[in-house]
Amino acid sequence: MANFLYTTRTINSKDFVYMALYHTHRPQDFGSVVGQEHIVKTLSNQILAGTVAHAYLFFGPRGIGKTTTARLLAKSMNCTERKKDSAEPCNACASCLEIGRGSALDVIEIDAASHTGVDNVRENIIDNAQFRPTKSAYKVFIIDEVHMLSTSAFNALLKTLEEPPQHVLFILATTELHKLPDTIVSRCQRFTFSKIPSDALKAHLAHIASSLGVTCEESVLNHIVQKSEGCARDAISLLEQVMATGEKHITAASAAFLLPPSAAEEVVALTTAIVHGETHTALQTIQHLYDQGFQFLQFTDDCIAFLRTLLIAQVTPQYIDTLALEAATKKSITELSSSLTQKKLIALIEAFFDARAQLRQTPMPQLPLEILAVAQTQTDPMSASPVSTPLPPGAALPTQKAIPATPPPATDTVQMEENTPLPASEEPKKQSLAKKVKA
Ligand SMILES: [Zn+2]
Repeated sequence: MANFLYTTRTINSKDFVYMALYHTHRPQDFGSVVGQEHIVKTLSNQILAGTVAHAYLFFGPRGIGKTTTARLLAKSMNCTERKKDSAEPCNACASCLEIGRGSALDVIEIDAASHTGVDNVRENIIDNAQFRPTKSAYKVFIIDEVHMLSTSAFNALLKTLEEPPQHVLFILATTELHKLPDTIVSRCQRFTFSKIPSDALKAHLAHIASSLGVTCEESVLNHIVQKSEGCARDAISLLEQVMATGEKHITAASAAFLLPPSAAEEVVALTTAIVHGETHTALQTIQHLYDQGFQFLQFTDDCIAFLRTLLIAQVTPQYIDTLALEAATKKSITELSSSLTQKKLIALIEAFFDARAQLRQTPMPQLPLEILAVAQTQTDPMSASPVSTPLPPGAALPTQKAIPATPPPATDTVQMEENTPLPASEEPKKQSLAKKVKA
C-alpha cells in the first residue's frame, strides 16, 4: 500500500523548494493549530467523550490546516499513551512517531487529484478498509481534494461510508464542497475551516521566525500576511523565502526583493487628495507613480481594494482592527471612511472600475487615473456638502461662463430639472446646459 504523504499538492517547483519550513512547523498537537479554534474544540470534545464519527468532511480554502487537523485526529485516535483527560496525542509513542514521519501503515493519505480512477479507490480504500488495522486502533483514510474523484469512485466510496467498518475513520478534505455528491456530504460530519485571521497568522509567523533566532520588522510580517490572504502555507513559504537571505533581522528593505514596497502610501495619498478635492495633489501623485514605474493596473486594483476597505469600515468600524496594516494606514481609513458618504464612496469605486477598464486600451497608462482625478475633484468635492444645491424657484441658471471646465455629473442635471421649476423664459438655457453636459 503506497502512502502518498507529501505528494498531495499541486504546487510549482519554486513553492516546493520553500515548503520545508511549513512541514517542520506543522502543528504536532491541537493546541498549536492556528485560527481554527471552533473545530479543534469540537474535535477535542468528541475525542474525550468517545463520540468521534466514522466520517468527517473538512471543507475550506487551501493551506489553512485541513490536512494538518486530519493528521492530528489520526494521531490522537491511535496514540497509545494519550492521557484520559486530554485529547492531545503524546507525540512520543511508536504510533505518534510513525504518523509524524508519515510512515504509519494504518494512516493512508490519498490525493484524489492524482488518483481519480475507480480502481484506485477500490484498491486503496474500499478493499483496504475491510482489513483490520495492522497495529493501531483505527485505520484512518485521509482523502485530499476529494471532489476530484470520479462518479464511479464516489459510488464505490459511498457504499463504504454507508456501512463503515468499526475500525475505520474517513477524513475527506476539499476546497470545493459544491462538487461533492450530496449523498457523500450527508454521510459525513462537516467542518468548515476559515481563513486564518490576520493577527493569529502574524503571531504565528513571528513565533516561527523567533524559534529560528530571526526577528522581522512589523511591516514585513504585515506584508506577508496581506499577500498570503489568510493561507498559512503561503505565508510560511513567503517567510521562508524572506529568511533565505540569512539575515537575523529582516527589514522591509532586505525583504524588498520578494515583497516590493507596496504602493499603500500612494493609494492613501491619491484617495485622500480625491476625497478632499485636491486636484493638483492627485495629479502629482499620479505623475510620481508614472515616474517610479508603478504598474497602473495593479495600482488601480490596490485603490479599489482600499476603497472596499473604507466601505466595509463605514458599515463595521471594528473591521479595521482585524486588518494587517500599518497604524498610519488604519488611521487614514478611519478618517476617510467617516468623511465620505456611502453613496459617494460607491460612486468613487465605480469610477475606479471605469478607469480600470480604460487602462487596457489607452496608450498612456496614467491618463485614465488623471481623468478620474480631475473629474472627481473638480465637479464635487467628496467631503464637502454637494455642490448642486437646488436653485430657489425662479433663480437664474449659471451663465455659460460660470459652467465649470469639467461638466457636473449627469445626475446633478437631473436633480436640477426635477427640483427646480423654471420660468418658461429659462427653458432654452436649460436645454443648452443639458446639451453641454452630454457633450
Ligand atoms: Zn502517542
